[in-house]
Amino acid sequence: MSARGTRSSQPPDFLDRAPAEAACAGTEDPVFFPDSETAAAAAEALVLYCGRCQMHDECREWALAQPVDSLYGIWAGTTHAQRRRLRRREQAA
Ligand code: SF4
Repeated sequence: MSARGTRSSQPPDFLDRAPAEAACAGTEDPVFFPDSETAAAAAEALVLYCGRCQMHDECREWALAQPVDSLYGIWAGTTHAQRRRLRRREQAA
């Protein structure tokens, strides 16, 4: 099982284009794949990790541009629910 297949049906191209810059490329660490009950704690744990990733800004932009139910797990330090709220906030602005 790879991170790409389980977090997104269409993984971002930067995982192939810049794997050395994407800190999670190839990871199978379960913290990236929390269930709904542990998602908030996982995202909190990954905020710093993702914040230091060289692809963070591109990752966040990509994650927020994807259809709401096409992504699972943590991307750019955000959970599915957090991305949904961020999208609504950005659309309302
Ligand atoms: S910001 Fe986080 S989820 Fe996005 S590529 Fe980097 S480590 Fe992976």
